[in-house]
This record gives sequence, structure tokens and C-alpha cells, in this order.
Amino acid sequence: MLKSKTFVKKTRSGGIMKIVREHYLRDDIYCGSAACSVCPQKDQVLQRDTNLESTLCARPHYLMPDTNVVMHQVDILEDLVISNVIILQTVLQEVRHRSAPIYKRIKDIIHNTEKHFYTFTNEHHRETYIEQEKGENANDRNDRAIRVAAKWYTEHLKNAADKDLRVILLTNDRKNKEKAEESGLLAYTFHRLLAVAIGADCTYPDLMDKHKQAALCNNLNYRHKMAQYSQRASVAFHTQLFFKTKGVVNEEGFVLFVKKNAIVVLIPKFGLEGTVFFDNKDKPNLRVCFDDEIPTLTVERTIFRVFDKVVVTISLDSSNLQHQKIRMSLVEPVVSFIHARSNFTSVLMLYIFTF
Ligand SMILES: [Zn+2]
Repeated sequence: MLKSKTFVKKTRSGGIMKIVREHYLRDDIYCGSAACSVCPQKDQVLQRDTNLESTLCARPHYLMPDTNVVMHQVDILEDLVISNVIILQTVLQEVRHRSAPIYKRIKDIIHNTEKHFYTFTNEHHRETYIEQEKGENANDRNDRAIRVAAKWYTEHLKNAADKDLRVILLTNDRKNKEKAEESGLLAYTFHRLLAVAIGADCTYPDLMDKHKQAALCNNLNYRHKMAQYSQRASVAFHTQLFFKTKGVVNEEGFVLFVKKNAIVVLIPKFGLEGTVFFDNKDKPNLRVCFDDEIPTLTVERTIFRVFDKVVVTISLDSSNLQHQKIRMSLVEPVVSFIHARSNFTSVLMLYIFTF
């Protein structure tokens, strides 16, 4: 069956263009359930015996999340305990439109055969395709399309081998849930997990398992830490790229902190922060005295205080290609000290540790 929509559009140059949009509706899109004896399908992604660990619904069931549940709770959908889920084409299209990373994550779950996630192309199915009604916005139209698909599945699965098999619509939208229930659908909000957390409800034992939760938290913390590392590495890398083309520059900076054997310098122009150590092995013995009450750091006869202005030379040290680093050398004030044999001044090298 072919549905076509024709409309005229005014082009930028003022001409009139006639646009014909064709939408093919098909009869050969199947439900994907192994419990179904009606559809002549080969790929039965959805299992006949669904996960019954859930206390949410004692009957065997397939979950059907709406767009917002996928957008905001994709991490829960990724959990191994969640399987046998129907992802509608309407939902996939909306997610793709709204977030490329989440679209990728849901596609990854669909490709994982252990998860039994089935994509149902409801927008091309003769019985589940709907037209946008007058006065109905795109969001409401899509919510209705999701309810129509859920309704179709509910009716369709009445012929299934297991008469108890149900489709549960997952939505966080109260109105959508009410409308779904009005038309005889099973609908749950995903906020039930919050109710579970305060003991007002119960859910999959695995989701509440302390050790499983701890493992999940460890994983989250690990990913967060790795993200921070890569963020810092990225800043370091781009700072190096920046100074590679700059050559050697002299810049004004300020002492942020004084420590027992070091000062931390901030260069406001670049937002660059670095630590200078005064007990470097390459340097002759310097007389360093730290006073934590003021606080100050006295290096030979030069005194460093917080907010003191200093001038540093910044350059890229690429002597070791695998470990290039930004090097700063202190230009002002000049740290002078008396050596046993002769008077000389030393230029101190600053090493950048943090940005
Ligand atoms: Zn079927």
C-alpha cells in the first residue's frame, strides 16, 4: 500500500515547487516474538520465555520504552537484567534526532544478541502507521504512534503460545501513561525505581543487589576518572600544539601558592598553571626556607609571596618526542645566591604538572 502526501512549497527564488512524499506501508513486517505462531518470520529476537526475575510484572512480558525513557535511562536499559525489549522505529528516529551518543548506545544494545532487543518498524507497518492529525504536534503524534504500536502488539500476542504474554509500555509521561491505560494497555513509569529505592515498591532483585550496585558504581567511577584523565591529556596536548607554533614567549604570571619547596605559578593569559620546584637535582644546593604563617618561600635572598608577579619564558620541550612538555623558566625575579667560589645567578626551570 502506498500513501502519498502532496504539498506545494515556495522556493527562495520565489518559484513554486510541488513536493510529493511517498510512504510505503507493508504487510510483511513481523513481531519478532518466538512465542508467535502467526508471523512467518525467521528471526525471532524476542524470547518465548522472558525474564521472570521481575517482580514488577509477574507475567511474562516484553518492555516497550518511549523516547524519553531511552533518552534518560539508557544506562538502565544497558543493564544485563533488562532483556526482551521492543524498540519502535518512531523512538529510534526521535533518539537519533536528539542525541547521537545515545543513538549509538541504543544501537549497540540492539546489536547485542544476548539482550534480545527487537526493532519494530512501526512507521512502515500497515496497521501501526498513523497520520498526524490537525492540531496535533509532532510529539503528541509520536506518543500516539507508540501507543498504537503497543496496542497492536497486545492484540497480536493474544494468539501467542503463551496466553499470559504482555507488552508493557514504559513512559515517564503521566499523561501518556493515563492515555495508554485508558485504551487497555499496561503502562509503567520508570520512576517506579525511585519508589523501589524508598521501599514503597519492589523490582528486579538484581537491580537492588548491593554487590551488583557496588559493581555498577565502581564502573561509573572508573569511567568518570578515565574521562577526567582524557580531558587533562587533551588540554595538555592542545596546550603543547599551541606553544609549538608560538616559539619561545615571555609572559607575566602570578604566584598562586607557595609550598615547602616550590611555587605554583598561574599565567592568566593562557590559563596555564605550573609548579616550580627549588630542590631539583640539577641545581646546586639552594638555601630554601618556608614560612607557613605568612606564608612565604625564601630561596637564597629572593622572597616569594602569594600574588607576587613573576615573568616566565614558556617553550615546548620536545627533546623526548614521546614525552613532550611545556617548559617554563623563571626570568624575573632573578634568584641570585652566593656560591662557595663565585657569585652567579641561576635560571630556574619550571615543570608543569597541572593545568
Ligand atoms: Zn507475530
